[in-house]
Amino acid sequence: MTSSPSRLSGRILTPSGWLLGHVDYSDRVLRLHEDSTVSPDRIILPGFIDLHVHGAAGVDIMEGAMEGRNSAEQVARAHAQHGTTALLGTTMTASPASIEHALEGLSAAISERAERGSGMARILGVHLEGPFISAKRLGAQPNVVCSATLEVVRHYHAIAPIKVLTLAPELSGHLALIPQLNELGIRVQIGHSAGSYEDGLAALQAGVAGFTHLFNGMTPLNHYQPGIVGAALAHAQFAELIPDLQHVHPGAMRAAIRAIPQLYCVTDATSATGMPDGEYALGSQRVLKCLGCVRLASGSLAGSALTMDQALRNLCEIGIDLAAASHMLSRNPADYLGLPDRGRIEPGAWADLLAFDSDLQLTSVVIEGEALTLQPAPHSAKDSAP
Ligand SMILES: [Zn+2]
Repeated sequence: MTSSPSRLSGRILTPSGWLLGHVDYSDRVLRLHEDSTVSPDRIILPGFIDLHVHGAAGVDIMEGAMEGRNSAEQVARAHAQHGTTALLGTTMTASPASIEHALEGLSAAISERAERGSGMARILGVHLEGPFISAKRLGAQPNVVCSATLEVVRHYHAIAPIKVLTLAPELSGHLALIPQLNELGIRVQIGHSAGSYEDGLAALQAGVAGFTHLFNGMTPLNHYQPGIVGAALAHAQFAELIPDLQHVHPGAMRAAIRAIPQLYCVTDATSATGMPDGEYALGSQRVLKCLGCVRLASGSLAGSALTMDQALRNLCEIGIDLAAASHMLSRNPADYLGLPDRGRIEPGAWADLLAFDSDLQLTSVVIEGEALTLQPAPHSAKDSAP
């Protein structure tokens, strides 16, 4: 907790639009005031909220906590350096013992709520990505899939709070399970699914809230068979998108942005994020990072090496307005999790604040009032750009 108020000045994105002036904050935003003498070159945006994070800096969340180090905390520290102020630690499809081990590590990082480690993004909870997915749409998930039961999910949920759960709705028993998971406070997303448009529609009617990395790992849109992508574009309020310009063509990104009112961006970042080209772990699999991409030996994309500040620049590069891009990185994911005091800069909200120069390079990160010391990036995106 900070005692005396601090201040950031510049062109500030507020819920009612841009304001040239100052934001005063302690751990929460205290005041906004207009001042026409402030330079408009400095841009102040709300902190990024990333609801799909597997790793960074050579560390995978599936490593759990061991020998005095907690992988979830290391990952939360690495992403904070790129403007992520809150995230969901995301597990991979794995054996029950491996998932339990990862959840135990996450639990230790989440439960110390008042004591968020210094320099760390707030870990809001867990995104359980598998094992309740289709063997036909594994992507980079290993083939140890199974159908979910309420007992198993309850067991995992008791170890660490699951906020988001990805499943394939066409698997036996899943449709009936969706409302029961909602009752536990879990948002259910369709992902890694070989289901039809009709399966997607039935799942939405049963209480599905979103779609996991839209377009990737699901049946595509064909005008005779609209698939899971068609169900999302036609009916979804929320969906994830990976804007690394590798997973989804900019044209498909634009179609989704136009169709889905509260589309939000995630990194799906792996341990290779922020690291030089080479071989890394993704859960139990080995992946290769090369030319900004992370791939399995088969060549299929295996998560990303994306950071949220690069996501912002990518969205602007394809012509998305800066305020609209910010909403997809901050406000929409906060709204999805039902967090009215995150993802926006207004009095009473958490002081999760980012400052950028006119090239959209990050210059300051404030998490719940704590101003971070930014480390110079040893391997910048420019080094690994194709
Ligand atoms: Zn993932």
